[in-house]
Amino acid sequence: MEVVLSPRGASRWMAGHPWIFQSDITPPATLAGGEVVRVCDQRGRCLGQAFYSRSSKISLRRLSRDERPVDEDFFRQRIRTAVELRRAMLPGETTWRAIHGDGDELPGLVVDRYGDYLSVQFLIPAIEQRREMLVRLLAETLACKGIVNRSDVAVRGLEGLPAEKGVIYGTVPDTVPMREGQIEMAVNLLEGQKTGAFLDQRENHIVAGRYARGRALDCFSYVGGFALQMARRADHVTAIDSSEPACEQIRANVGRNKLANVEVLCANVFDFLRAEFDAGKRYDTIVLDPPAFARNKAARDAGLRGYKEINLRAMQLLTPGGYLISSSCSHHIDEEHFETMLQAAAADAHREVQIIERRGAGRDHPVLLALRETRYLKCYVLRVL
Ligand code: SAH
Repeated sequence: MEVVLSPRGASRWMAGHPWIFQSDITPPATLAGGEVVRVCDQRGRCLGQAFYSRSSKISLRRLSRDERPVDEDFFRQRIRTAVELRRAMLPGETTWRAIHGDGDELPGLVVDRYGDYLSVQFLIPAIEQRREMLVRLLAETLACKGIVNRSDVAVRGLEGLPAEKGVIYGTVPDTVPMREGQIEMAVNLLEGQKTGAFLDQRENHIVAGRYARGRALDCFSYVGGFALQMARRADHVTAIDSSEPACEQIRANVGRNKLANVEVLCANVFDFLRAEFDAGKRYDTIVLDPPAFARNKAARDAGLRGYKEINLRAMQLLTPGGYLISSSCSHHIDEEHFETMLQAAAADAHREVQIIERRGAGRDHPVLLALRETRYLKCYVLRVL
């Protein structure tokens, strides 16, 4: 089946952009969605192949710039290439994002490896329809004992797919161990947030551990990734999350690592920071890693107000020379927006702030140069004077 691109679509494709939007194609009525299609320009020249989505605004996602068969062997090779990259880049590690969708030329497929177990998201119809084959190939390539499907995400709705989750291969225990540097944690792949943990922050957890000192605060702690690393250097760490199951997991992880200096609070960070400021409390290291406050473009300004409030409070609470490790995982807030917000927070807090590191997601979350807008995670190490 062929899909013809508009001249604008063809020039986007030729410039390397792997996504073609609805407005740049006229799909044949016979396409149901989920097919591999030949992508052609208006002169009938074949430019490559793509997955077709019927409901999504993103109609085509590039698979290749040629006409090689897109068969089981094609997917096997793509999976192997992605896995080999992680094995070479993260020797000795057994927890990593194995497949990062478009970043690994496997649009719509996300695979997180937690040792012997995988947690997978099938995000578009083409990937959903090939689920059985992909599960087989993943089990073969990664020799895993069990696979969890965590396709219970809102973006599936944009693709006309229902939310789903469950064990789809082998068996998976309630909690699965994972190691981050010297810290050992247990996560719940089926009931936990995202695919069980936030693997994109793994390298940043370790970095935060290097900066931590004195009295440290980990806001939006989830299972304690930042708090536990900081506890190795800081005198005392307070980990805060509003979710009771998350707090229980932090406590279990604190026990697992025999740490005696971590206190876990189940509370709303906004209220907590305000109360600490009013009470005149001070901290030497603060981590802020909130959920996405801006889930779409329209919510950007409201989101930025939320980020500003917590960053402003954190800056006020820091002792001179204290470190603020501040993240945002909102796709719709780029580095420019984020830095402008930080500057406004610093101005209101009457503090000078140095940028020490501008970080992002870990190296197992590669981003295509032509798809830089998918670089969602920002993690800044700041020093507040
Ligand atoms: N820092 C974690 C990931 C945090 S995800 C890590 O690196 O692994 C965001 C967390 O914020 C979730 O666990 C969620 O339960 C929590 N959360 C959301 N809103 C909150 C609020 N207002 N106060 C406290 N925690 C909140």
